[in-house]
Amino acid sequence: MPELPEVETVRQGLETIIVGRRITGLDVSGKRTVRRQTAAELGSRLSGRTVTAVRRRGKYLSLELDDGQFLVIHLRMTGQLLHVTQPSLLPKAPHTHVVMTLDDGSEVRFVDQRTFGEWYVTDEAGEDGLPADFSRLGPDPLSDGVPVRVLRQRLANRRSPLKAALTDQRVVAGIGNIYADEICFRARVRPDRRCDTLTSEETRRLASATATILRHAIRLRGSSLRDQSYRDLMGEIGGYQARHQVYGRVGEPCPLCGSPVSRIRFGARVAYCCEVCQQ
Ligand SMILES: [Zn+2]
Repeated sequence: MPELPEVETVRQGLETIIVGRRITGLDVSGKRTVRRQTAAELGSRLSGRTVTAVRRRGKYLSLELDDGQFLVIHLRMTGQLLHVTQPSLLPKAPHTHVVMTLDDGSEVRFVDQRTFGEWYVTDEAGEDGLPADFSRLGPDPLSDGVPVRVLRQRLANRRSPLKAALTDQRVVAGIGNIYADEICFRARVRPDRRCDTLTSEETRRLASATATILRHAIRLRGSSLRDQSYRDLMGEIGGYQARHQVYGRVGEPCPLCGSPVSRIRFGARVAYCCEVCQQ
């Protein structure tokens, strides 16, 4: 599932190809992708509009249009956006649910095998000028930062395991399974630690690890796992999977102490960690 670094990589790609371009057509073949609106409504609200900016909060993308509307895109589990400059030369991949045509003849195709991904248009903006739905999300570690004070406030009274809090989009937006495990490892805190037992020093390390890990992952254009369901706008896989310290590395030596990496279960969750280095 794409997390902040993958969605940010897609955002940067989209910004390059789409800002200043006019949307000339929309072809929707997957009804579930546009479940909040009909394909006809989406098409009529988008056609003829020019994209003025591409923003992201957590795992959500928002394309700002010249009439004050936003096109919100959520990739969810397996959604991919692909930019195709010569559409006639490249047949549509299986599971292509939306094709958006731009005024330079290129296409942005939305491929989504599991069909949890979503597109919708809204003109309801929150105070920050982003779609109103975004106000339910916690701070974005890249654009808002993760101040230690904020993280401490949000974790102090929670009895849930740390990983459950880190992946709760209302606590911090954009973190999922992969980066939660990597952040906990870097901060040397177990992902199943109860939030209300964290010391201020541990919370400080978590805030700092969040910023460091996510920035590094964005520089390497995100993580593609074995199924390669995450690809960037040009169809390329990411590079950060080679830098994972614990995620998916059960039994391999911990990069710090050499003990085998564990795969632990708590509640319905699974996490990778070093039970020697992480307390
Ligand atoms: Zn270790």
